[in-house]
Amino acid sequence: MMDSVQKLALFIEESPTAFHAVKTLRDRLLSEGFEELFENTKWNLKKGGKYFVIRNGSSIISFKLPKAKYKGFYIIASHSDSPSFKIKENPEIEACGAYITLNVEKYGGMLCAPWFDRPLSVAGRLNIRAGKGKNDICSEMRLVNVDRDLVMIPSLAIHMNREANDGMKYNAQKDLLPIFGDETSSGKFMDIIAEEAGVQKEDIISHDLFLYNRVKPTIWGADNEYISASRLDDLECCYGSFEGFLKAENKKNVTMHVVFDNEEVGSTTKQGAASTFLKDTLVRINESVGNSNEDYLISLSESFMVSADNAHAIHPNYTDKADPVNRPAMNRGIVIKYNANQKYTTDSVSAAVCKMVCESADVPYQVFTNRSDIAGGSTLGNISGTQVALNTVDIGMAQLAMHSPYETAGTKDVEYLIGFSEAFYSSVIGTNMIL
Ligand code: ZN
Repeated sequence: MMDSVQKLALFIEESPTAFHAVKTLRDRLLSEGFEELFENTKWNLKKGGKYFVIRNGSSIISFKLPKAKYKGFYIIASHSDSPSFKIKENPEIEACGAYITLNVEKYGGMLCAPWFDRPLSVAGRLNIRAGKGKNDICSEMRLVNVDRDLVMIPSLAIHMNREANDGMKYNAQKDLLPIFGDETSSGKFMDIIAEEAGVQKEDIISHDLFLYNRVKPTIWGADNEYISASRLDDLECCYGSFEGFLKAENKKNVTMHVVFDNEEVGSTTKQGAASTFLKDTLVRINESVGNSNEDYLISLSESFMVSADNAHAIHPNYTDKADPVNRPAMNRGIVIKYNANQKYTTDSVSAAVCKMVCESADVPYQVFTNRSDIAGGSTLGNISGTQVALNTVDIGMAQLAMHSPYETAGTKDVEYLIGFSEAFYSSVIGTNMIL
């Protein structure tokens, strides 16, 4: 039997873009007996039912209703996107009569250097002409993945830049354009995309296509304690929380697995954590079971959210970058993230819940804070809270090389996250405020 870390590696390979990650989750949900709901049709939910809904093909919310009247919503949220390069319109550039390069722009804040000198390919979605007449403005979305080594961003030789090892600056319009082929490959890029998608090139009206790293995930270290792969941030959290969600049963609360797109670019899209996607879904669940607006507000106060996005492990070569005491390491369990300015949602109330869930699951936990003189990143928990205000904790699994196209995490942590998630989704959470 494949263990969890190998299944995570497979999930990552099947999910080169946010669109593919959502499709991978959808396929699994359908095989597990979940019913697909659509935002443009009426929902008739049944007690004890299992459902999911997709927005934009890149965000997905799945949920299980208990058989009895529910109290609150227990949510783990993660994100489907990762930093990459997006293929621009009119992608081909003719270069010096000898090459065709691709015109790309940055999506998110990536480490640029590790994108050089490794096989890359292209995946994403196309919109295909589907209308049947002049005024029938209708298109159809198709996923595409050119599943072979297709492009490369070669470094400049050291002989032509002797300062290359003394700190590089990368200009996105000059240094980072991948080679697609020699001069005879002109016009072939969209041919390859069309062929791979099984459609006519003329029928492709538009596309959202991204580069991805072709290097396969690997498990390594003296005792196989590490996994390296693309997109561990945040597909590790997405995968681990999903497995826990599928296993868990909760008789009193709605359990929900939420995956938002566009975390890497600020979440402010119609399918991001700042959107109404989660709120709309909660409101529709509330109405579908015949609850009032006040019932909705009562159930929110009984709810809890875990914002799950990977955390920085201490780096052996840069220990000075970490907080003096709160320095998580890989394979040591759930990382609870704190920030006084609430870029992370964790407070003493939500940390207490999180620590007790870890204890009940027999999963270790550790703490992350930034050095007080380093600003650090943010994530989706506090952004989602502006739409749906819930008690929330920010967690993640410790990893190195965040936003590289080949990141590193701990192999034991996958199992810890599944155990934590299953325990969270199975719990009954209460907080008594005594003033
Ligand atoms: Zn992330």
